Amino acid sequence: MSYERENIHRMAGYQWGEQPQDRTTIKLNTNENPYPPSAQVQQALRSFDTAVLRTYPQPTADPLRERLAELHGVARDNLVVTHGGDEGLRLAMTTFVDPGTAFGMADPSYSLYPVLAEVQDARIVTVPLDGDWQPPADFAARLNAAGARLACVVNPHAPSGTLLPAARIAAWAAEFEGVLLVDEAYADFVSPDAHYDLAPLIGAHPNLLVLRTFSKGYSLAGLRLGYLMGDAALIDPLLRKTRDSYNIDAISQALGEAAIDDRAYAADTWARVRAARASLVAGLRGLGLSSPESQTNFVLAQVPTGANMDAAALYHALKQRGILVRYFDAPRLRDRLRITVGTPEQNQALLDALAALLGTGA
Ligand SMILES: *Cc1c(COP(=O)(O)O)cnc(C)c1O
Repeated sequence: MSYERENIHRMAGYQWGEQPQDRTTIKLNTNENPYPPSAQVQQALRSFDTAVLRTYPQPTADPLRERLAELHGVARDNLVVTHGGDEGLRLAMTTFVDPGTAFGMADPSYSLYPVLAEVQDARIVTVPLDGDWQPPADFAARLNAAGARLACVVNPHAPSGTLLPAARIAAWAAEFEGVLLVDEAYADFVSPDAHYDLAPLIGAHPNLLVLRTFSKGYSLAGLRLGYLMGDAALIDPLLRKTRDSYNIDAISQALGEAAIDDRAYAADTWARVRAARASLVAGLRGLGLSSPESQTNFVLAQVPTGANMDAAALYHALKQRGILVRYFDAPRLRDRLRITVGTPEQNQALLDALAALLGTGA
């Protein structure tokens, strides 16, 4: 017999991307920033006084919240800091979705969403994306018809990398009767020319939550730090009720503050990633691999049908050569590889390996 709740027993759990612990693998599979965190983060860690760890940390990470509120032009009450963006997703699920009621998502998108919905024993409503990886025009209407209490949308989208304009999000927020969570895990990499910013919408939409993370943009995936922004009434139950009582440890708070204080360094890595992305896309295209226009730090490359290896075979062959990319054995994704933008040297190594494997040169 099993002691688990029935829905927990039935579910399979999250499938992590591979995380090899050696430093030699060219790791282009889980969308980390290829550059190290700011030197100020290193300095904050070196000078951290462990005597501080004797007492509990500031319960709501207020010095960090204040910095983030200032950065986005919102009030402190519009913001809760979370243990990675993933905790923010879990808090939204447990706070806004009754077991047995509906949770909505576009498909394909982040594979953690259905896992969290299964833990909550919610009914999962998936709305298929169209040929351009965009939700259909009647997205909000379909979510309403299904009675969804919460819906998650990734923007820019994962795994395609495409960006929806803020006006589309605003229209859905206005129409949708539940809580709309926009997962902006990759928003730091969006070109400034796109003028994409949802923070100004928060005051106008009481049901809008915006998720951010330090994992990608600030090169701190190992630290586990993220945050949610939204109307104060939406944030309040997350901050005071459903979150772990001291969810952000003292070291993470100090390092997060240092990362924000040296945001100029992070912004420089974003510009470098954008430049490397353009070269990577051009190189892939030269090998016959096309991809949707990406505003993130990864590209979804399609392997042409006539190639001498399919996407799954390429994934395995690259892995043998010490290069990890992500392959999803799922509808619409089976003929593609999701490739994180690395340093120019890493991207060149990938392109050389692909050229050799596909027999198209080098
Ligand atoms: C990386 C990521 C997150 C958050 O990751 P954390 O490391 O928990 O902050 C959320 N959504 C998507 C789509 C992601 O790729």
